[in-house]
Order: sequence, then C-alpha cells, then structure tokens
Amino acid sequence: REVEEKNVSMNKDEFKGVWVYIEQVGGQARNVGYELLNEGRKLADAMGQELAGILIGDNVDQLTKEVFARGADTIYLVEGKEFSHYSTDAYTITLTDLIHTYKPAVILMGATNDGRDLGPRVAGRVGTGLTADCTNLGIDPATGLVAWTRPAFGGNIMATILCPDHRPQMGTIRPNVFKRSAPDYSRTGEIIRVDSKVKMTDIRTKLLEIIREGVASANLEEAEIIVSGGRGLSKPESFALIEELAEVLGGAVGASRAVVDAGWKPALYQVGQTGKTVGPKVYFACGISGAIQHVAGMSSSDIVIAINKDPEAPIFKIANYGIVGDVMEVIPALIDEIKKV
Ligand code: FAD
Repeated sequence: REVEEKNVSMNKDEFKGVWVYIEQVGGQARNVGYELLNEGRKLADAMGQELAGILIGDNVDQLTKEVFARGADTIYLVEGKEFSHYSTDAYTITLTDLIHTYKPAVILMGATNDGRDLGPRVAGRVGTGLTADCTNLGIDPATGLVAWTRPAFGGNIMATILCPDHRPQMGTIRPNVFKRSAPDYSRTGEIIRVDSKVKMTDIRTKLLEIIREGVASANLEEAEIIVSGGRGLSKPESFALIEELAEVLGGAVGASRAVVDAGWKPALYQVGQTGKTVGPKVYFACGISGAIQHVAGMSSSDIVIAINKDPEAPIFKIANYGIVGDVMEVIPALIDEIKKV
C-alpha cells in the first residue's frame, strides 16, 4: 500500500521513454530482447520518445554495440558479479531502483522464465500494473497509451489492456511474436553506467548447481529448425523418430499438448497457446492435427512442413509443404535421404 501511494502521488508526466529489458544468459543476449527493441522502436517513435535498452549482468558491456544496432538510443548498464546468474533478488532490486531513478513511461520484457519472474515483482514494488504474456502491442488512438493484447479466457478472446493510472506501463511479451530488425552497426548512443546497489546479503537464494534439460528442447524458442511430434506417433517409443530427425537436421524437438498430457515428453517441449511460442525457419509438424491452440504457438514459422496420414488434417491449411503419409514410413525415409546429403 505504501508503494502504491507513493506511485499514485507521482506525476505521470514525469515518466518518459520506452525501455526494453535485454535478457541475457552468460553474456549472450536472448533473441526476445532484440525482437522487443524492434517493436519498442515503433512505440517510441509513435510516442515521440526515446528507446532505451536495459542491460544488467556480469561483463555484459560487449552487448552494447548490438543493442544500439538493434534500435536503442540509450543503454542503462549495471554490471557486477552478483548478476552472473539470474537471481530474483539482485535483478528485482536493480530494475526497481532504475525505474525509481529514471522514470520510464513503458517497459517491455520477454515472457520468458526469467521475465515472468522479474516483471511482476518489479511492477509490484513500483506500484504499477503489468500485462503478462502479450502477443501484440500498439498505441490506443483515444488515449495514446500502450495497448497490450493478450489471449484471455483460455484463448477464447483477445483482450486489449491499458494502464491508464500508473507508471510505468509494463508488460511481458512472448518470444517470437515479433521479428528482429536487421542490425545497423552505424548506430551509436549514450551508455549510462549505474552502480549496483545490491549487497550480497540481499540475495536470499544460493545457486548450487545448474542441471541442463535435454539440449534438444532447451533452445526451442531460439531454434532455426524444429521437429515436433504429435499423437499420430501412437506411442512414446516412436517419439525417438522425431528426436532422430531433429538430430540429423541439427534442430530442436517440440511436441503437441496431446504428447505432453500423455506423459511422453515433459511440458517444456510443448508448443502452442499454453506452451512455447516458436518462430523457426523450418517447422516440421509430424502426426499433429493442427488444432488452433497448437498453431497459435508456431504460425510465425517461416516454412511449415506437415506429415499427416489424413489429407483433411487442418495442419495442411497452414503448411507450405505437406506429405500425406504414415509418420512411421515417411520420417525414416527422410532421415535416410538427409544422411546421404
Ligand atoms: P490429435 O489432434 O489427436 O492429432 C493427431 C494427428 O495425427 C491427426 O491429425 C491424425 O490424422 C494424425 N495421425 C495419426 N496417425 C498417424 C500416422 N501414423 N502418421 C501420420 N499422421 C498420423 N495443444 C497444443 O499442441 N499446444 C498447446 O499449447 C495447447 N493448448 C491448449 C489450450 C487449451 C485451453 C485447450 C482447450 C487446448 C489446448 N491444446 C493445445 C490442445 C489442442 O486443442 C489439441 O487437442 C492438441 O494440439 C492435439 O494434439 P495432436 O495434434 O498431437 O493430436
């Protein structure tokens, strides 16, 4: 309540600029930050305001060139050993402090695991609202506010949400719903270095070990090739074919919800409305019917190749290439041919 009152008493006109949180892991930026810089640029231009990138991490200043090249005018840079791995406490304290000091009007963050943890905490601390898991952004013509669009009621409606009374206007946006712009390395800007205010005693959790999930699914959201399997594989053992095809293509493995619900694969493989949103160059849908909730997570793929024994399967409506046939015959034949190349 105290935080809320403090925020409400602030003059909303003091809050200026669009910020994009550039999520990084081990000094490597995740694509979603660059996707949001591209979209943030359009919002900032429409609002007549500046676009800033927020970089928090350990040794992340090598990313500044790319952040400018992708559209930022300014970068707020906070570095320190306490940021070497994502920690809820260190990152929340730091982003909250940046907001109190520099007062942005809008903050865009990826709806990743880290973004979904950090965004709502920071919004709570600064006493504003946050629209989670957005799939589109725009400017509301009547108010000039950011219009945040997200699926609601199990995907049955698309809700557009405004944040009229509080600042900053905050939201998390699903990876792969926007494209990255081509980098322009002639762009430069101002780097504002900010000292970390985090004390080691502020960090209440201790990282003991990092256990990596199967490599094949870990990078689903950033993969250029994805091979996804559905219920048409009939049994969990047959899913090995999907993994083999992904391996020969150097791609990642995905799954439909039917596969996840049946316990053949863990939830982190699921593509779709309640799973991951992906945007690879090539997406193979093998034994997947093409239900709307699945398509919602992969329709921004550049090329979709569907393998299904039913010529009427809805997936063929969005596929660029379709193979009508049995996955148990088509996939081994594909693997053999690819191995010959
Ligand atoms: P099915 O729909 O059963 O399709 C199997 C397909 O395989 C069929 O088209 C069949 O012709 C084909 N087939 C069968 N045998 C073979 C063979 N031997 N060779 C070739 N083809 C064969 N689903 C998701 O995927 N992701 C989500 O995030 C998601 N979220 C949801 C959220 C909500 C609120 C709801 C209500 C549903 C959601 N679903 C989601 C479920 C979705 O509606 C479908 O039920 C699901 O996608 C179906 O999975 P599937 O295509 O693997 O299975």
